[in-house]
Order: sequence, then structure tokens, then C-alpha cells
Amino acid sequence: LPSRLPDVGTTIFTVMSALAAEHGAVNLGQGFPDFDCDPKLLDAVTQAMREGLNQYPPMAGVPALREAVSAKLDTLYGHRYDPGSEITVTAGATQAILTAILCCVHPGDEVVVLEPCYDSYGPNIELAGGTIVRVPLTPGTFRPDFDRIAAALTPRTRAIIVNSPHNPSATVWTRDEMQRLAALLRPTGVLLISDEVYEHMVYDGRPHVSAASIPELAARAFVVSSFGKTYHVTGWKVGFVAAPAALTAEFRKVHQFNVFSVNTPVQHALARYMADPAPYLELGAFYQHKRDLFREGLGATRFRLLPSEGSYFQCVDYSAIDEHSTEEDFCRRLTTQAGVAAIPLSPFYAEGFQQRIVRFCFAKKDETLQRALDRLARL
Ligand code: PMP
Ligand code: GLN
Repeated sequence: LPSRLPDVGTTIFTVMSALAAEHGAVNLGQGFPDFDCDPKLLDAVTQAMREGLNQYPPMAGVPALREAVSAKLDTLYGHRYDPGSEITVTAGATQAILTAILCCVHPGDEVVVLEPCYDSYGPNIELAGGTIVRVPLTPGTFRPDFDRIAAALTPRTRAIIVNSPHNPSATVWTRDEMQRLAALLRPTGVLLISDEVYEHMVYDGRPHVSAASIPELAARAFVVSSFGKTYHVTGWKVGFVAAPAALTAEFRKVHQFNVFSVNTPVQHALARYMADPAPYLELGAFYQHKRDLFREGLGATRFRLLPSEGSYFQCVDYSAIDEHSTEEDFCRRLTTQAGVAAIPLSPFYAEGFQQRIVRFCFAKKDETLQRALDRLARL
């Protein structure tokens, strides 16, 4: 069979998690918490199931959940999305991004991605028949380079994908950067896919600047987020997309024949749980504590720390420990010999670009982080 994705193998997250399990390593690779969610959220799911909320929900999502998302976006970002026509519940951010791309990218259209980027973007564009146009973030700082982005836009550019807080670099776009993006896109018809799955994980008093909070961007954006990240339930695979009615109408045409709809009792539970904003408002402080604990411990190692402004990732340069190994070889040895799994940055680049940087995930119990730090200190 001629492959639709000839260059794609198993994702690095799956590979490293399997290697970590095989060698009993502390898994700071694939991004997911090693602690459970709030028991109240579990009770809400059980209750919804017992109430008989177990059949297909409306295609676009349970109305109460769309209303809760709309209210949250309005309060936090000052944009009111109509729950009926502008918010759709998806099977995680992964499906939201794929569906957004499938509904707007025609064969031959160009889509700009900023490298390094999350590994699903490229194959998603390829499946839509689009052309991936890779623009590097500034080497060293991972900040957007607007001259290079401007130079990449052509009459064929259909969309640009932006991810802040950023996986893997942990940078967070400032309001100024988001406004520069708005100015750049102003004279164009380019759509924005804004991957905001780490929206509540921002540190040191930084705001998350959602595309929803900038009217010019909101008017052309699919704003994507994930309940998995926000509520420590990555395995539930529920997210949402907020977009103007005309974009949402196209999105739903694809969505209804992609998944049709998403897990009913979980949607009801999330809607009820969202009535209390504390869990997402407190998430930044919760993870900042973990980030600080982890960074402090890494200070005693030979890794060089990069900034972590947001997300639950911490990147480090390992060249003082090992000058020669590729990032993937280093991660394999770190897992099998030092007993700590990490993710190389190279798979976030098309050509496997090498910088001697790896990514740790600190969404772990404090004792897990300490166990990893004890092992890393020996290197
Ligand atoms: N985008 C980014 C940047 C991510 O890091 C992830 C999760 N690793 C996703 C999208 C996918 O989110 P979900 O698990 O909700 O599909
Ligand atoms: N988003 C997670 C990460 O970056 C992994 C999700 C996945 O395994 N696809 O680690």
C-alpha cells in the first residue's frame, strides 16, 4: 500500500515511554502527570454515568460544557464565543488540530509552522495535502522571528500554527508578540490555529495571551485547548476549539464525520466541575512550585538550564556531560543507564536538527522529581 505518511514512524513519546517502562526509569519524557486528578472530578463522571448520561451527546458537544467554556473564555480573555455556533468539544486537542487543518487546508495550500513544533502538525498538514512551510524560532531563545515569518507568507499561505505556552521550549508569547502576529496577518487572509493547551501553566506572574484576547486574531483563529492538561486527565482525551461561526461551521462538517461526538459522561462531569474556577486559576502556582523544585535540583547537576516560562516542560543543554552523542542517543542512555527518561528536541524538527538539548516533563509528584534529581546529580 502506498503510504499516506511515508516518513512517519512511531512517535518519540511512545518510544521513550516504552523504554522507560522496560528499564524501570523515572519517566520525565512523555508529557503527562504521574498523580491523579481531583476526586471530585471522578465522582462527577461516575454520577453522570449513573444518571444515565451514556448515549451520544449532541455532535458539537454537551451544551452545558460549551456554555462553561464560553463563560471561561469571556472572563479570562474578554471574547464572548457563542456556545451554539462557535465552540465545539473535541477528542483532545489532537483531534481539534487535525480537524481544523482538514477543514481549511486544500491540496497545495501552504501552512506555516514554527520549528521546533509539536509532532502532529506536520503529518496533519500532509494528510490534508498541504505544503508544510517551516520557519525556525530564533535559535537559542526560541522567540518568534517576525521577519522570517513575514518572508514565509505567500499568496498560497492558508494558515499558521502558533503554540504558546510552547512545547517543547517552554517559552510563552508576550502580548507584544501576539500583537505583532496580528499586525503581520492583518493584510492577509491567513487563518490562525492557536494551540493553547498549556494556557493555565504560566509562571512568574506572566499572563497567557490567548488569540481570543486579541480581536483581530480571534476573528481568524481556531483557539484550541485540552481538558487533559488542565485537569490532570490526559487519558480522557477531551478538548475544545473556539472559532468564529463561519470557521466553526466548516470545522463541524469535518468533525461530524471524523468522530461525530465525544464521550458524554465526561463532558457532563467537566461542565459541572468547571463551575469552580479555582482548579484552573491555581494551576500556575501548582506547577510553578514543581518547576522551581526541579530547577533548583538541576542547579546541582552539569545540565545547563534553559528558561521555563510556561507549560510543564524544562529543557536542558547536556553538552557539559556529553559533547558528542545525538539527542536521541543521549536520551536512550539517560533512560537505560541513569534511569531517567527525557525527550530529545530533534523530533520536533523536520531534519532532526541537533543542539544537545533535551526536554524533561515536571508534571510529577515531588518525590518523583526528587528521585530523578538524585539520579541526575550523579552524572
Ligand atoms: N498540542 C500540544 C502542544 C501538546 O503538547 C499536546 C499534548 N502533548 C497536544 C496538542 C495534544 O493534546 P491532547 O492530549 O488533548 O490531544
Ligand atoms: N503532548 C505530549 C508530550 O509532548 C505527548 C502526547 C503524546 O504522546 N502524543 O509529551
